Amino acid sequence: MAELTFDLVVLGGGSGGYAAAIRASELGMNVALIEKDKVGGTCLHRGCIPTKALLHAAEVADVSREAAAYGVISQLTGIDMNGVNAYRDNIVTKKYKGLQGLIKARGITTIDGEGRITSPTTVQVGEDTIVGKNVVLATGSYSKSLPGLEIGGRVITSETALQMNWVPERVAILGGGVIGVEFASVWRSFGSEVTVIEGLPHLVPNEEEVISKNLERAFRKRGIDFKVGVRFSGVTQSDAGVIVSMEDGSTVEADILLVAVGRGPATANCGYEELGITMDRGYVITNERLATNVPGVYAVGDIVPGLQLAHRGYQHGIFVAEEIAGLNPIVIDDVNIPKVTYCEPEIACVGLSEEKAAEKYGADKIQAYEYNLAGNGKSEILGTAGIVKAIRVIDGPIVGVHMIGARVGELVGEAQLVVNWEAQPEDIAPLVHAHPTQNESLGETFLYLAGKPLHTL
Ligand SMILES: Cc1cc2nc3c(=O)[nH]c(=O)nc-3n(C[C@H](O)[C@H](O)[C@H](O)COP(=O)(O)OP(=O)(O)OC[C@H]3O[C@@H](n4cnc5c(N)ncnc54)[C@H](O)[C@@H]3O)c2cc1C
Repeated sequence: MAELTFDLVVLGGGSGGYAAAIRASELGMNVALIEKDKVGGTCLHRGCIPTKALLHAAEVADVSREAAAYGVISQLTGIDMNGVNAYRDNIVTKKYKGLQGLIKARGITTIDGEGRITSPTTVQVGEDTIVGKNVVLATGSYSKSLPGLEIGGRVITSETALQMNWVPERVAILGGGVIGVEFASVWRSFGSEVTVIEGLPHLVPNEEEVISKNLERAFRKRGIDFKVGVRFSGVTQSDAGVIVSMEDGSTVEADILLVAVGRGPATANCGYEELGITMDRGYVITNERLATNVPGVYAVGDIVPGLQLAHRGYQHGIFVAEEIAGLNPIVIDDVNIPKVTYCEPEIACVGLSEEKAAEKYGADKIQAYEYNLAGNGKSEILGTAGIVKAIRVIDGPIVGVHMIGARVGELVGEAQLVVNWEAQPEDIAPLVHAHPTQNESLGETFLYLAGKPLHTL
């Protein structure tokens, strides 16, 4: 039994927790990072990195399959899932080693084990009491299911999907949000027959409707089947596969059902309620500066209601470390955090939708413009379709950018700077976008909104 004392104790070593630990150590704090599994958390081991590796392998499959369109002779004869998984695992392993090295080099003490907060300044890990002037809660999230829908056998979540060493012939996916459409995209590229089931009227229902419609068109073209506006009612499974039933009486037969209906906060048995921390449906409630109602205790990442994204976790972690150090960091609203969905075609956005901008500023006080990627040379070269849509306040800043098309995730960096710096199209119009890049599509959009379109009417 030991008592170890630190300036800061971080419970959970995922994106949010390790970012808090690293920034706090940079600021001179003595930090303990408690992790029951592997530092890097969901993002590195079961989320962002492994899924994006799969999506890249999927892109390679598509390129091989469609090579003849570019005059290249190539044949796609199959997918070796063991090979795909080895490529993916190699990336995860390298990143994991790198992160462990970074944490060590920063002088952070990693404590292996399951922690439970027992007072505003103590976390219990087995027999040991870890004491800190401040505590950051960062225990992350888990894959949710629906009431009565049991996970097991052929009914799986993203964690199991990532461990599969075979390509299913037929897949049903429950949930047309980010994780659902990313897996739909991967499996279709690998040759599966895919059906996505979404209860709301569109795929990626949190996006602008025009983006959802573009994705639906692209998915139809790719042969990805989807049912929207239908509610799931049940699933049966046998040795042969699953039969998924909908409330409208329709059914989908498949080898597996991927349940991708969102992620819930991993806060059970961590001592939060017992300490009197304000919670709501399992989420930890904080003020906008990420402080809980218990003085000295902060929360970051997926356990805080809002976007569940790794880079939000990083930002939260950095923010809290700086807050504790008295640096008074600026608050970034969730709406101004960039979001990318990495299916083919990709979706990327930041800021307000046209509807929300109209609500906030008045419909007659905003201007929206949709630039079609058909006018962009590089997009034509890549053979992709899509749009860039930007919304500005008239005589004011750009408040939202929404994009769909191959690789548009790489364009969101400029978009988030523009929105967060409250740039006006007139500020950006004189600046130069390289040709031929997809980035020019943003340039053309801003030129149009500044009243001086170049390649558009
Ligand atoms: C399939 C999938 C794909 C995704 N793709 C993306 C993407 O492309 N981009 C993106 O931005 N986000 C993506 N995400 C979301 C991203 O992974 C999460 O938003 C991010 O990991 C949240 O970070 P976190 O620190 O809050 O939690 P986590 O990463 O979940 O980390 C929490 C850590 O706490 C540990 N822990 C929990 N309880 C305890 C305890 N009591 N004691 C000790 N340790 C504990 C856990 O073991 C875990 O390591 C994806 C998620 C999934 C599932």
